Amino acid sequence: MTTDVLVVGAGFSGAVVARQLADEGLQVLVIDKRDHVGGNAHDRMDAHGVLVHPYGPHIFHTNSARIFDYLSQFTEWRPYEHRVLASVDGQLVPLPINIDTVNRLYGMSLDENTIQAFYDHVREPRETIATSEDVVLVAVGRDLYAKFFQGYTRKQWGLDPSELSASVAARVPARTNHDDRYFTDRYQSMPRDGYTAMFKRLLDHPGIIVEVGVDYFQQRDRLAARHVVYTGPVDAYFDHCYGPLPYRSLRFEHQHLAGTTQYQAVGTVNYPNDHAYTRITEFRHLTGQTHSGTSIVREYPQGDGEPYYPVPRPENERLFKRYEALAQDEAGTTFVGRLAQYRYYNMDQCVGAALKAAEYVLAKLDYRSAASEATTGALLQSESSQGA
Ligand code: FAD
Ligand code: UDP
Repeated sequence: MTTDVLVVGAGFSGAVVARQLADEGLQVLVIDKRDHVGGNAHDRMDAHGVLVHPYGPHIFHTNSARIFDYLSQFTEWRPYEHRVLASVDGQLVPLPINIDTVNRLYGMSLDENTIQAFYDHVREPRETIATSEDVVLVAVGRDLYAKFFQGYTRKQWGLDPSELSASVAARVPARTNHDDRYFTDRYQSMPRDGYTAMFKRLLDHPGIIVEVGVDYFQQRDRLAARHVVYTGPVDAYFDHCYGPLPYRSLRFEHQHLAGTTQYQAVGTVNYPNDHAYTRITEFRHLTGQTHSGTSIVREYPQGDGEPYYPVPRPENERLFKRYEALAQDEAGTTFVGRLAQYRYYNMDQCVGAALKAAEYVLAKLDYRSAASEATTGALLQSESSQGA
């Protein structure tokens, strides 16, 4: 088979592009340097038979019917609304901050008619909202900022919230009601058989060949194709010629507790102010699996290691723009995904960006009318879920 398109990376971005192109009749080779498909959304049974997410908890949520319907071709769903408690001042309280969070922390009895007056009383008005510190202080003031955001953010990013773009903390806005769900998106569900099963169906197509354990940079010479779709870190593609783009990493500490059916009351408990880890997730809440034991994961943020998060702040965006200019000039290659576009994308946003990228590649290869031709820059505007 001659390869029309080589897709580097078998995560959401790569897998969706590959499927779209194969559905149009192109021959697609998907490679991943890891030994599995699914990218960071990969899931698998641990040694005890519990379905876990090796790269941290992944909860699917979106407001886009188009994206939900698209993925529904490859999976049934299990409705699941994620809930998070934060360990603050010796209590476990709902996060995002809501009326109950405030009442429990301050011994008050506010309701939907009085909570905004409380926020108005404690908030610190600011003229411009540029940083994650601004976005929290302007909404809920300094005490709630210190209790929930400052320590967690310093741990997670190795930066103070004042050094991070507003969009980071804006992912977790305070509420004026009792809603204790972590997300408010219209569609909140987990793939019924897991993410990896969904990816296998996505990639199960006569026009797609998948090779795992293949690093693009080590085998580039043998991987000839008319077009390349690259979903890895954009700075690595260009040999870090402008210096490394900062990505934040994590170390995942997985643990199985035999004979315990429930470790904690909700899917995730956050620890803003204690411990070196940020949060503990118990998978059975997410997957609905019943088992005589339970498996949990602790997330320890790291400077070095696998690139998991782009770090949203103006100087990094400026550096990314330099790489993006190179990407736009790179003939025969399309860059898409969380690492290649240096965007703090959720899974659904990767799907949106990948659908757009596939249109672009089809137009480039004259496989379809060029009417929908986009530019790499235009790919950056994907459909958004909460937390975009
Ligand atoms: P990736 O999944 O990173 O896939 C890129 C792939 O490219 C990788 O598999 C990598 O091995 C491969 N690759 C890179 N370089 C090369 C190379 N040189 N050669 C070959 N292969 C290469 N999103 C949500 O919507 N909900 C959540 O609850 C959620 N939780 C998250 C929790 C954590 C801890 C993290 C880190 C992310 C979370 N996300 C969540 C975000 C989600 O993981 C991403 O949006 C999505 O998985 C990114 O898909 P991608 O294909 O762009 O990138
Ligand atoms: N955040 C925080 N305290 C929390 C939860 C979140 O300060 O208890 C901030 C922190 O900066 C975090 C960001 O909000 O990185 C986004 O949180 P989210 O849960 O969306 O992070 P992700 O699941 O992507 O790691």
